[in-house]
Amino acid sequence: MVVVMEPKAAEDKIQNVIQHLKDLGFEIHRSDGVTHTILGAIGDKTGIDTRQLEVLDGVHEVIRISEPYKLASRSFKKENTKISMNGLEIGGDEIIVAAGPCSIESEEQIDIIARSVKASGAKILRGGAFKPRTSPYSFQGLGEEGLRYMRAAADKYGLFVITEVIDVSHIEIVCRYADILQVGARNMQNFTLIGELGKIRQPVMLKRGMSATIEEWLMASEYILKGGNESIILCERGIRTFENYTRNTLDISAVPVIKKLSHLPIFTDPSHGTGIRDKVIPMARASIAAGADGIIVEVHHDPEHAKSDGAQSLYPEQFDQMMKELRIIGRAVGKYLDS
Ligand code: PEP
Ligand code: MN
Repeated sequence: MVVVMEPKAAEDKIQNVIQHLKDLGFEIHRSDGVTHTILGAIGDKTGIDTRQLEVLDGVHEVIRISEPYKLASRSFKKENTKISMNGLEIGGDEIIVAAGPCSIESEEQIDIIARSVKASGAKILRGGAFKPRTSPYSFQGLGEEGLRYMRAAADKYGLFVITEVIDVSHIEIVCRYADILQVGARNMQNFTLIGELGKIRQPVMLKRGMSATIEEWLMASEYILKGGNESIILCERGIRTFENYTRNTLDISAVPVIKKLSHLPIFTDPSHGTGIRDKVIPMARASIAAGADGIIVEVHHDPEHAKSDGAQSLYPEQFDQMMKELRIIGRAVGKYLDS
């Protein structure tokens, strides 16, 4: 961290700031220029609120040199994190696709969709049993009954299960049925929930909050890492912008940014990222071209009657076509998609 003093700051103000920094545990490296005195504060103090220093008398600016997150950063860990689970590796050379309905609606529905996404090459079955809906009047999910149906379908067709956990009180039950726990956009900064997910050892997919900066998102991942759970998949799912043609704006540039800043694998969700069926495939292609480790996408055999997000769900044939295209794009960026 570097503290830049105001031009020609008085010596007593400089000494006051130096004392403050020392009290916080920093070693000080002072440099007196023609107009500015610059104080280099040396020490690992990721928890410091730089605004506390910025308001000190005589301080012009405080510049952070290192990121406020640590365990999630590329500087802390150079190699990509690879998450291995029973024959599946996330974050390696294989592009991993999670697919399935927005919500689990019935035993038959999840079975039909699981069979078809598996046949097209998906490795993970997605589906919500506890749904975080904007309206309390919308379908809230089947709860444990839904988890049971999804686990049975996944086991029948040889798929892994990802599903959302929306509350601390559900962690245990969701862990019993799921291979990967999803934290939804609306819960990215639910610090109690993500703190608890640091204590489990199942992988967690942390979706980006709809108004979260990349730094806030990585800070959220830090909560999980700090608890000791290193198996985190970040997922860009679209952010809220002034544009309202699409449901959200899928920030594809977040993919290379995350790759630079962090060692964690990154997926995108082109379904929630666009909200419109015919925009999903182009954004899936773009995500893989940008270097995403995988995507999570909504697929429904009868989207007109889906209980949630039918408008953004691909038909199984579209999903199959998308997988064929992603195979080609994957090869162009040095990855592969298993068939
Ligand atoms: C979902 O995946 O069904 C979901 C609710 O996603 P998000 O949290 O990104 O809105
Ligand atoms: Mn959905």
